[in-house]
Amino acid sequence: MEETKKKRVWLYVVYGLIALAIILSIQFANPFQATEISYSDFLARLEAGEVTKATVTDTRIEGTSVTADGESNFVTSRIPNTDDQELISLLQEKGVEFSGRVENTFWRDFLLTWMLPLGLIVFIWFFVFRRLSRRIGGASPMSFGQSKVKLYDRSIERVTFDDVAGLDEAKEELREIIDFLRNPQKYRSIGALIPKGVLLVGAPGTGKTLMARAVAGEADVPFFSISGSQFMEMFVGVGAARVRDLFEQAKAKAPCIVFIDEIESIGKVRGGIMASGGTEEREQTLNQLLSEMDGFDPQTGVIILAATNRPEVLDSAILRPGRFDRQIMVDRPDIKGREEILKVHARRVKLAGDVNLRKIAARTPGFAGAELANVVNEAALLAARKNKKQVFEEDFEQAIDRVIGGLELKSRVMSDKERRVVAFHEVGHALAASLLEHADPVHRITVIPRGIGSLGMTMQLPEEDRYIMTRPELEDRLAVLLGGRVAEEIVFKQISTGAQNDLEKSTILARKMVEDYGMSERVGPMTLGLERGARLLMGEYAYGKEANYSEATAQLIDQEVKKIITDNYDRVKDILSENTAALQGIAEVLLEKETLEGDAFRELLDEYRSGRQAATL
Ligand code: ADP
Ligand code: MG
Ligand code: ZN
Repeated sequence: MEETKKKRVWLYVVYGLIALAIILSIQFANPFQATEISYSDFLARLEAGEVTKATVTDTRIEGTSVTADGESNFVTSRIPNTDDQELISLLQEKGVEFSGRVENTFWRDFLLTWMLPLGLIVFIWFFVFRRLSRRIGGASPMSFGQSKVKLYDRSIERVTFDDVAGLDEAKEELREIIDFLRNPQKYRSIGALIPKGVLLVGAPGTGKTLMARAVAGEADVPFFSISGSQFMEMFVGVGAARVRDLFEQAKAKAPCIVFIDEIESIGKVRGGIMASGGTEEREQTLNQLLSEMDGFDPQTGVIILAATNRPEVLDSAILRPGRFDRQIMVDRPDIKGREEILKVHARRVKLAGDVNLRKIAARTPGFAGAELANVVNEAALLAARKNKKQVFEEDFEQAIDRVIGGLELKSRVMSDKERRVVAFHEVGHALAASLLEHADPVHRITVIPRGIGSLGMTMQLPEEDRYIMTRPELEDRLAVLLGGRVAEEIVFKQISTGAQNDLEKSTILARKMVEDYGMSERVGPMTLGLERGARLLMGEYAYGKEANYSEATAQLIDQEVKKIITDNYDRVKDILSENTAALQGIAEVLLEKETLEGDAFRELLDEYRSGRQAATL
């Protein structure tokens, strides 16, 4: 939108310049065909009596002279500040038919003294403002309330799922949305509600933006793209106006996709400790966004996609039903995913026969799509610099080193040692989950970092929804949480900071057992502490309470919490100590494969356990 408006302004400038040129050329074009002669020549012709006609203006004399060769026209410049009288008497004397003419210099003077400087000023103003506004972040003086929305031209910039490698689960979830955008009628007629907002969550460079564009490409609908920070430009109130404008444009083009990239820049938790200048504006913008989302009918066919790499800072209002209630993880790729991404990007370059993308994928653990794209491009650049016709393996090797160098500066790449620790840690969780009677079965284990603070992950799937949990179930859950740290202790004889999140969760759980569920005999069946209000964050509650009990009770609670944790710690330590062979073996497999599905994990575990006496639990 913005682009076309800018183009139109430039078009006007060009039209103006053309008109100017035409006026000037008409004005200055000399309809009088004549040869230019010097003044002395003119005087000579006059003396010789050859001049028959003359027209005198302020600046020149146009005339006709007759010689033996015939009649010809001439023109000569007048000498400035000469006496007209003398010239007139000379012309009279020679019997020349002469007249004077006042030149019409109005247009010329007008153009030169007014239009040209004015045009110049406007031009410079335009130029400076464009620069300036680009630095500030995009608002041009003509577009205060209008959103800085980029509408992609589908015919040129079409991205499809073929351009997005891996991420099969995310694609699967997005298929439904694509289908809706393609045939909104089908869903409308049956009365199905489609989500209004879908939030893509994942580390930087994992392809969230790419995925959003691919959804638009697959659905073949208009794609409005705006980044959260662009909402927040310049003056107060503009952010909210932008949101309004954006939704108006989108509704006019429905079915379509509105993509808000980096939504955390408007969607941060409101108020709070971080409140500072600019917060007011952000809140207004956020409120406008939320009310627009609440206001429109999901059947209009406008779907809002948003992306963030910091879901933990998002205001919970954003995640409420009817807003971005669907969240899709865009994970860092595993070795297979990395190979696929490399393949997509290697389509553009000429590969030599010795290049094995699988091997390159194995050498780049922890790389996200953006970094892999970077590796391919760096390798091609290196090859070109050495005047090669193809990209060889050695170019890739160098490119990887280079990209790793860059990542290490940002400390985003794990060392081999760290990866080992993470692998044993995760297998520790998984073993505890499998070997404890009441724990949920393992769904997947991975050593692929998942954003800030999470180096690996063990996912469990509950077999059934639980509304009530028994004490043994809670204790097993606690033991699974502690399993990671226990494994680290057993294998490396030392512990790392990697278990911080687990400890936090297990402490909260143990505290709940004591304070909320009355599961401690010494404390008794009471609910302790006042709820200060919990906040739902990515499916989990942040916990905040206020003490409403005595200091003595507080001490007792602390003791009991500690006891529950250490008891379970010891319990899981016993179990894992009896299964160190499985721990070692499965961790090695995990290191190699990076991701293990639940079934594959259980198969491995069975192999190890059938070999020896099954540990009694
Ligand atoms: P994000 O928005 O998650 O930070 P982007 O979508 O901007 O990441 O990804 C940056 C670039 O990395 C993309 O333009 C693309 O070249 C590459 N890329 C990332 N993920 C993938 C993927 N899954 N398949 C192919 N290319 C990818
Ligand atoms: Mg992005
Ligand atoms: Zn853990």
